[in-house]
Amino acid sequence: MRLVLTTSKGIEDLAKAEVENLLSDLGVQFLVEEKPLGVEGRVFAEVGEAFYTDEKGRKRELSIATYLNENSRLLHRVILEIASERFEKIGEEEPEVALRRIEEFVSELPVERYIKVSESFAVRSFRKGEHKITSIDIARTVGKAIFERLEHFGSPKVNLDHPAVIFRAELVGDVFFLGIDTTGDSSLHKRPWRVYDHPAHLKASIANALIELAEPNGGSFIDPFCGSGTIPIELALRGYEGRIICLEKYRKHLRGAEMNALSAGVYDRMEFVLGDATRLSEYIESVDFAVSNLPYGLKIGRKSMIPRLYMDFFAELAKVLEKRGVFITTEKKAIEKAIEENGFDIKHHRLIGHGGLMVHTYVIE
Ligand code: SAM
Repeated sequence: MRLVLTTSKGIEDLAKAEVENLLSDLGVQFLVEEKPLGVEGRVFAEVGEAFYTDEKGRKRELSIATYLNENSRLLHRVILEIASERFEKIGEEEPEVALRRIEEFVSELPVERYIKVSESFAVRSFRKGEHKITSIDIARTVGKAIFERLEHFGSPKVNLDHPAVIFRAELVGDVFFLGIDTTGDSSLHKRPWRVYDHPAHLKASIANALIELAEPNGGSFIDPFCGSGTIPIELALRGYEGRIICLEKYRKHLRGAEMNALSAGVYDRMEFVLGDATRLSEYIESVDFAVSNLPYGLKIGRKSMIPRLYMDFFAELAKVLEKRGVFITTEKKAIEKAIEENGFDIKHHRLIGHGGLMVHTYVIE
């Protein structure tokens, strides 16, 4: 089985490691590759068959796709690959030529192996790069090719709102890909526990990537700008046994974090503190790990306040941080100045795609 797995740009290596760990636990043969055909935000996995014994002692095949959907913390989608192809120069082609090429390619694919004709289907599409065609053109063309092929086997049914089977067609640069989206219409990063929607909340997949970079080993952990609590909640959901603190300046957001933690079933594992991160040492004497999505001044507050806020916060952090900090922000200049002037070393830097921006991520000690 060949799976195309989606995640945020810039965390493909962490998603690959997670998938490898999950598949190792199953004891199946696998090969995992990040950025297949150079496509960012994608991980490819070729996986052998896995089996389990049911309650009647019968050997049953285990669905790897379901297993990954249920257990991954870093993936957005799990897609069963039907075919991937590089369409050289498709970006320069006139719409009719590009769409004919896609239609001819899809019409040759054995889509009937992935769907019963009695099941309804829809095509969801994604496009990125320079093309003369739109994602709507792609969905329509691929849908037509699938429909016409399935007509040889019966009367296909299209249901755009509530399909039984979702085909996913992607054109990223000159790479075209078709698969069955086993995740469904709601991406895995949209966690069911989120009952309070913070205006600048972090994707849960990125929260987990930051946790991986911090490598917390059971020591105390704080998110000093916790907002709706995404990072501490995701840490608690991993079964983390150390102290977990959620600090936030605004009561409304802290209440939201508490509601989210209750909904996630981890309220009792966390401490909620209403307070100002620029006075951090008033609330805690020391903490081993600090991980946060800092205010950027884009959606909340003023951008001009950011350099002062970061300088004051990192000065306080220097008084209490024992081991490692991981911080994500768009404000490169302000954070680098605050990190360096307060005696921290940058151990690692990377860019992560978040909300249409490439966001700077720092591991500091
Ligand atoms: N990661 C959070 C989530 O997923 O919901 C979002 C964090 S948001 C980018 C930054 C948060 O920092 C906001 O909730 C804001 O109210 C809070 N904040 C701003 N200034 C603060 C300060 N001085 N001390 C503590 N929190 C502050």
